[in-house]
Amino acid sequence: APVILWFRRDLRLHDNHALAAAASSGRPVVPLFILEDGNDDAMPYGAAQAWWLHRSLERLTARLEAIGSRLILRRGGAADTVFSVADETGADAVFWNRRHDACGIEIDSALKAGLRARGIDAQSFAGQLLHDPTRLKTKTGGSYKVFTPFWRALQQGGEPDTPIDAPSSVRSPERFPASDRLDDWSLLPTKPDWASRFGEVWTPGEEGAQARLSVFVADRIGDYDRTRDFPAIDGTSQLSPHLAFGEISPAVLWHAARLDEGSRWTEGLVTFRKELAWRDFSYHLLYHHRKLDSENIDRRFDAFEWRRDDERFAAWTRGMTGYPIVDAGMRQLWKHGYMHNRVRMITASFLIKDLLIDWRRGEQWFRDTLLDADPASNAASWQWVAGCGADAAPFFRIFNPVLQGEKFDPDGSYVKAFVPELAEMPAKYVHRPFEAPAPVLRQAGIALGTDYPQPLVDHRAARDRAMEVFARIRGGH
Ligand code: FAD
Repeated sequence: APVILWFRRDLRLHDNHALAAAASSGRPVVPLFILEDGNDDAMPYGAAQAWWLHRSLERLTARLEAIGSRLILRRGGAADTVFSVADETGADAVFWNRRHDACGIEIDSALKAGLRARGIDAQSFAGQLLHDPTRLKTKTGGSYKVFTPFWRALQQGGEPDTPIDAPSSVRSPERFPASDRLDDWSLLPTKPDWASRFGEVWTPGEEGAQARLSVFVADRIGDYDRTRDFPAIDGTSQLSPHLAFGEISPAVLWHAARLDEGSRWTEGLVTFRKELAWRDFSYHLLYHHRKLDSENIDRRFDAFEWRRDDERFAAWTRGMTGYPIVDAGMRQLWKHGYMHNRVRMITASFLIKDLLIDWRRGEQWFRDTLLDADPASNAASWQWVAGCGADAAPFFRIFNPVLQGEKFDPDGSYVKAFVPELAEMPAKYVHRPFEAPAPVLRQAGIALGTDYPQPLVDHRAARDRAMEVFARIRGGH
C-alpha cells in the first residue's frame, strides 16, 4: 500500500528524513501539501509568506517531477484532508517531519492518534531544528531561560545529524489522487501587486537556498562576526525565509559552517552557528511557553500601560516616523519582505519604547510582512526587545535611533537605499535631518515636514516617559 508523505514547512528534497524514509521503503509514495486553513489558528502564513509559499510550491513540484513523482495539493483542515487522501489512495502509512509550534503540535498529535485508531501507521521525523526542543534540559530536568547555558548544552549535546542526500527516485502509485491547481489558491497578490519587488531579491525554493548558502560560505562567513551588524553590508546569510519554509535544513547550515582542512576556526563560523542556536532557543521557549506571541513571559508586564495611538502605529508601519534608520528599516520590510537584524531591533525598540505601543501589535505586523516570519523567532525576539522575554534586554536599555544609525550605518548608505528623500543629505545629518541647518536642508532639496516627516516624538522626552511608565510595574514580581 502507498505511503503519504505530508510536506509542511519542509519544502525540500535534500536532508528530508521523512522523504528519505518514504523513498527507501520501496512503497509507492503520495507527496501531499495541505493549505491548512480549515481551522482559524492553523493558517500559519502572513500575506508576504503567501507569496513565498506559491513560488516555493512551484519549485517543489518541479523537483518532485524530476525524480518521477508528483505533488498533490489540497486545501482544508489537516486531519480531514489526510484521512480523505488515505481513503482515496488506500495508503496505510503517513510520514512527516515534526513541527514545533503550539498549534502544529496539537494538530499532529491528535492526527497521529486518529490515524493509529484507524490502523494507519503515522511516523514523524526530526529535522526542523538542530535538536528537538525536548532534548536539551537543565540539570534539574527543566527548561532553559537564558541563552548562554542553552548554547553550552547545545554544543555538548553533540553535532546535529550529518545531512542526507535527496533520493534520486521515488516510486509512484499507479494513479495519483486529484490535486488542486496552485493558481486557484490565489496566494499571489494581484491589485495592487505589493510583492512586485520581492523577486528582485529572492529566489524561493531549494535551489535558491543552496545558491545563497554557497555564496555565503564562499564569500562572507569568515567575516560574519564583524559585518553582521552593518545593514548596508551584505554580511549575513539571508537564509531566514528559506529556513522558515524548510527549503534548507539547519543541520545543513551547521555543517556548512565547518572548517576546510587546514583552515582555522574563525569567529565568523562560531558566531554563525550561535545564531542558528538562537533559532533553536526560540523554539525551546515556544515549546515551554505555548502563548509566546500573546503572553508576556515576565508577567509584571501584564500591567504595563500601553498606548493605543493608531496614527503613530500607522506612521511606523509606513516608515514615516522622521527617524531615518527606523524609516529605512520599515520600508525595507515593505519593499523586500525582509529587514536586517540590527534594524529589526531598532524599529522594534522604537515602537515599544518611544511610542509605548504594545509589542504584540508590532509582532503581528512583522508576521504579516516578513517573508521569514517564524512563530518562535518573531515572538521571542519581540519579547526580548520589550524586556518581558526570557533572557531579555532590560526594558530600560532604550535604543537611541540617531546614535544607532550613526554607529551601524555611518555614511547613511542603508538609509539612502530605502529613503530616497534623503539621498542628497550629507552623512553628518543623514540620521538627524531635524538638526540640519536650513542651508543644508535646502541644498539636499528637502523641506522637513513636507518631503520627509518631522520626528514623530522627541526621543529624549519619549525615553523619560517610557521610564516613568516602566517604573510603575518594575516593583512587583
Ligand atoms: P543570519 O545572520 O545569516 O543568521 C542565520 C540564521 O540564524 C537566520 O536565518 C536565522 O534562522 C537564525 N537567527 C539569526 N539571528 C537570530 C535571532 N536573533 N533569533 C532567532 N534566530 C536567529 N528571525 C526569523 O527567522 N523570523 C522572524 O520572524 C524574526 N523576527 C524577528 C523580530 C525581531 C523584532 C527581531 C529583533 C529579530 C527577528 N528575527 C527573526 C531574528 C533575525 O533578525 C533574523 O533571523 C535574521 O535577521 C535573518 O537574516 P539572516 O538569515 O541573514 O540571518
